[in-house]
Amino acid sequence: MGNIYAVTNQKGGVGKTTSTVNLAAALADYRKKVLLIDLDPQGNATTGCGIDKENLSNSSYEVVMTESKAVDAIVRPDELSFDVMPANTDLTAAEVQLLDVKLREHRLRLALESTREKYDFILIDCPPSLSMLTVNALVASRGVLIPIQCEYYALEGLSSLLKTIERIKQRANPNLEVTGLIRTMFDARNNLANQVSRQLINHFQGKVFHSIIPRNVRLAEAPSHGLPVLNYDRASRGAIAYMALASELMRRDKKATEAAGG
Ligand code: ADP
Ligand code: MG
Repeated sequence: MGNIYAVTNQKGGVGKTTSTVNLAAALADYRKKVLLIDLDPQGNATTGCGIDKENLSNSSYEVVMTESKAVDAIVRPDELSFDVMPANTDLTAAEVQLLDVKLREHRLRLALESTREKYDFILIDCPPSLSMLTVNALVASRGVLIPIQCEYYALEGLSSLLKTIERIKQRANPNLEVTGLIRTMFDARNNLANQVSRQLINHFQGKVFHSIIPRNVRLAEAPSHGLPVLNYDRASRGAIAYMALASELMRRDKKATEAAGG
């Protein structure tokens, strides 16, 4: 049975969705069975996978809020080699409705129980907040992937994310771990980016992934074609970087699974 990873950072625009979609595609390219779960009401990962978010019969909203089965919300987009549980603005209502349901922090974990075993990797694209949806993703996950844009305010907010992770680890999910920090949209010619990158490494040491995601226009263009960058321009620097990151993630995943005795 595969591990579940939450891709999260409550800051918007740091590369969560780009990382989720392109890691999913890269892992699938390595022949892994992958499910991407869109848990952001903006539905950017859904659109980025070529799915029309206005015409969903089932979505992550139904899975989290109703008795609807996860498998009924999962689709395989034509041109892709991984599965997607899409989302749209319906999910906005879940933020509030979740406050009133039983086991409100465990809804996603429970909904995935029977589906998990079909996959090697499940990646959850989180909304830009530490809301009940993000809490659901963290309770369901084994690892957390944190995309970080190396700029002045990058470290701000990171401590509240780490506190949330620690709290969930103590209360609801003892196995939860930060698997790695991903440096995104990196510009090696920028002094500040290099400085922040060094700070991250000093502070988080081995947690920072060695693979760096460069700023690459192909990565920004691909979603408008409804495709991961691997399908859009396989030779681009962005595609190569996400392949390298996926291979690093597979190594960390294997280590974590071995350490857990699985
Ligand atoms: P988030 O999900 O954290 O809000 P996104 O993944 O949507 O962030 O990225 C924010 C914007 O930056 C998007 O327009 C996306 O296409 C662009 N972007 C993300 N990563 C890169 C990159 N490495 N190079 C260039 N543009 C990027
Ligand atoms: Mg996003």
